[in-house]
Amino acid sequence: MCTANLPPAASIHTPAGPFACGTSIRLGLAAGGQLGPSLGSNGMWFPSSLWSRPAGGLAVHPHIALDRAKPGSLIVNRHGERFANEALSYHDFCEEVFRHGEDAVPAWMIVDRDFIHRYGLGVIRPRTRSLQPYVESGYLKAASSPEALAAQIGVPGEALARTIERCNSFARSGQDEDFHRGESAYQRSNGDPDRRLKNPCLGPINPARLHAVSLWPTPLATARGLVCGTNGEVLDQAGDPIHGLYAAGGDMQSVFGGQYPGAGAQIGQAMTFAWAAARHTANGLKQE
Ligand SMILES: Cc1cc2nc3c(=O)[nH]c(=O)nc-3n(C[C@H](O)[C@H](O)[C@H](O)COP(=O)(O)OP(=O)(O)OC[C@H]3O[C@@H](n4cnc5c(N)ncnc54)[C@H](O)[C@@H]3O)c2cc1C
Repeated sequence: MCTANLPPAASIHTPAGPFACGTSIRLGLAAGGQLGPSLGSNGMWFPSSLWSRPAGGLAVHPHIALDRAKPGSLIVNRHGERFANEALSYHDFCEEVFRHGEDAVPAWMIVDRDFIHRYGLGVIRPRTRSLQPYVESGYLKAASSPEALAAQIGVPGEALARTIERCNSFARSGQDEDFHRGESAYQRSNGDPDRRLKNPCLGPINPARLHAVSLWPTPLATARGLVCGTNGEVLDQAGDPIHGLYAAGGDMQSVFGGQYPGAGAQIGQAMTFAWAAARHTANGLKQE
């Protein structure tokens, strides 16, 4: 279902449980339901880094609001160039990734040692004393020059050095001339309120103490699902309710048309239609 419905650049790793593979949508289709129309990327997204836990298992760690917009970071594509405003919402940032396709998968988030100490990075918490375990596991890259880091992450060294230098000039002026990072209230609220900064989302990166993690576009929810009526009943091909069959949550076509109005949209939709469905069933039982 992922291959048929999600963008080719979407990560095969997701935070979904291993057995969540669309079984219930398929059951609904077999009972006569229909899939709604495709809604672009058919999902809501966040960029994630992939951490192999020492005790086993893969953590798909979302970079939602704690690090991407903080000052002193940037994200590059395989050409060593920025391709989007890093402080966009997680969903909008991933839509930018999809616009750039394979060039931006994986994307590389570049920071320096002080950044990790202050804000953390992905699974690494702020003030973590030794980064060695993360470097040894391959989660985190470390280098003492842009060229050395570029060689590790497979991007052109000169381009990466230029990108870091240009971002450092934006940090000095407080203006991101390329992608306007830190110009909206949402972005600034995820930045650093330190008053000494000209822009809460822009800060210098020390090119002699560099680190990087790879970011992959991963779904936080899917948007395409069974077409339902306002009571949560699944509708058949003719648009008539299938008696006794309900869907809610990710099994239901997004009521927001695949857009992402904000956090809570998925669980809000799930609760609302589950409630409507339960009331509808209860009313039906009362009448029987
Ligand atoms: C890190 C993260 C953060 C998020 N933050 C937010 C947020 O802040 N606000 C928000 O609104 N949404 C958020 N979401 C999205 C939201 O969590 C999901 O959209 C929502 O949980 C989907 O609910 P659901 O009931 O449709 O599916 P699920 O929660 O996936 O439930 C489906 C259940 O069905 C079970 N199942 C699967 N197959 C079978 C089978 N064959 N037989 C029996 N059981 C089966 C599964 O085990 C699972 O328990 C977030 C998602 C992630 C990953």
